[in-house]
Amino acid sequence: MNSPRDDYQESPLAKTKIVATLGPACNSPDMLRQMVVAGVDIFRLNFAHGSHEVLAESVTAIRQIAAELGRPVGILGDLGGPKIRLEDLPGGSLRVDWGERYSFVHETDPEDPTQFSTTYDGLIDDLKVNDPVLLADGTVALRVVEKHADRAVCVVEQPGLLRSGQGVNLPGVDLRVPSVTEKDRADLAWAVAQGLDFIGLSFVRRGDDIHELRRLIGELGPEHLPFIVAKIEKPEAVVALEGILTEADVVMVARGDLGVEIDIVRVPAIQKQIIRECNRQRVPVITATQMLDSMQHNRIPTRAEASDVANAVLDGSDAVMLSGETAIGDYPLLSVAMMSRIVQEAEPFVVPHKELPIGVSSRNAATQMTRAVTLGAMHAAEQLAANLIVVLTRSSKTAIAVSELRSPIPILALTDSPRTARRLCVAWGVTALVTDVCQKPPECWMDSVVEWGRQQGILETGHRVVLVGSTDWTQPGKDLMLVHTVAE
Ligand code: PGA
Ligand code: MN
Repeated sequence: MNSPRDDYQESPLAKTKIVATLGPACNSPDMLRQMVVAGVDIFRLNFAHGSHEVLAESVTAIRQIAAELGRPVGILGDLGGPKIRLEDLPGGSLRVDWGERYSFVHETDPEDPTQFSTTYDGLIDDLKVNDPVLLADGTVALRVVEKHADRAVCVVEQPGLLRSGQGVNLPGVDLRVPSVTEKDRADLAWAVAQGLDFIGLSFVRRGDDIHELRRLIGELGPEHLPFIVAKIEKPEAVVALEGILTEADVVMVARGDLGVEIDIVRVPAIQKQIIRECNRQRVPVITATQMLDSMQHNRIPTRAEASDVANAVLDGSDAVMLSGETAIGDYPLLSVAMMSRIVQEAEPFVVPHKELPIGVSSRNAATQMTRAVTLGAMHAAEQLAANLIVVLTRSSKTAIAVSELRSPIPILALTDSPRTARRLCVAWGVTALVTDVCQKPPECWMDSVVEWGRQQGILETGHRVVLVGSTDWTQPGKDLMLVHTVAE
């Protein structure tokens, strides 16, 4: 059977996390619920589309569904960042042909069909003669041939169809556009007020962009800081990856814009490079865009797409993402189910990270001591053929440290914080359980774990469980590892 039925349910121990983008194709509470059951761990709200009122309804619906199903579901608010878009074209679209000339101007003259304006006012100042201007997802290419105070004249080097509101990519052009725009600030204030778990920033150029976003979030005074997702989609960001990884909580390989901003032939290798660095720094990483693109209109993906999803898992992605497939596609639910089934087939082939470096600089990595203990725990669990690794985690750091080891053994994270459980929706292999048992003495922890494990059908008498916990749960300066055999 190639295509799953609509009532597909993901196994509770599936390891690779799935992010699904919200949109008109999946806005009803009923559809959202089915998507969670089929495997969605995080929903992405795209601020480029949809008003705050409409998004607020989705947030309420998702929270309610998560509560009813008794499982954490994360919500990511994705800020557009300095993404430049075409303003309205007369008639909505325009075909441009070889050699034709068009001008970018501040204010278009409705009588002149050869003028464009964009959402970024400084564009004309920033452009220089010879700069490339890519439109329509990189399928249409212009080049600047003349520059005047009030316009930049371009010639068409690659023809095609333009539509209003499409992105404008300027690979290699040094733009003075701020990394967090006015619109982003309004979206951010809303996202923080809604208590979203993750905030994404598009078109990150350097670590400072993330630092600035964190400062702005701090000014809004949220009760809990959301995780910041740095979207890598510009060549500058690939070069500045090290600095970005010391600031970001999560990284996204945003292949949509990356594949326009950088020669597309380099994208697969860059994806692997980014993921490897993220794994080493214990920064969860999401691989995104066009993963099952043809499923926007077909019930099954192409062979290449199925391989792409599986290979992203083998590369070391914590999560894989659906965009148009769930936001505007004809088969949002089938796309989730297909992605879930592909990742689970690939997971047994993931190679554990036995040699990850202990010294890392990312801000959310657990302490060196905790990382050493988690490595030791994984070795012990494998030697003993343990059936479960348990992590006590308050901030999510220890659980992420275990997750990044990519052990084939299931990981159960116990936390007293629903917030932490939702953050862990991005961590590979981790099932999070919110419980106040963490506050009780260690003997009680195992009783709860064994009860849960028997319910899930993964623990029986004689099975072994390895538990790790950082200083948060014992006394400062002490980490703990406990090996347990399940009794009668
Ligand atoms: P977007 O980001 O879908 O918000 O553009 C992802 C990407 O560019 O791949
Ligand atoms: Mn993008």
